Amino acid sequence: LANLKKCLRTCIFCRKKHEQKELIRLKCEDKKLVPYNNDGRSFYICYECKEIIESNTSQKVYRRIERSLMKECKNNDKYVVQLKEILTDGR
Ligand SMILES: [Zn+2]
Repeated sequence: LANLKKCLRTCIFCRKKHEQKELIRLKCEDKKLVPYNNDGRSFYICYECKEIIESNTSQKVYRRIERSLMKECKNNDKYVVQLKEILTDGR
């Protein structure tokens, strides 16, 4: 039965489940946001949220993103800025 299930992961922002290939995998290393490098704990962001992060700059959205990232990284830093840089580099 387990084989019939697709490997679903939850986006940390919208909490929707997606297939792993439809997600961007990131991690927090030395209090810095980096693309996942097969080591340690990771988290996922879907492409829908990527679009939102890249295009939307409203305070409400920004704070929500920031809060999710702080929760994953366990501390407070300029994670939204770092995230935007990673997403832009990935093009
Ligand atoms: Zn999402």
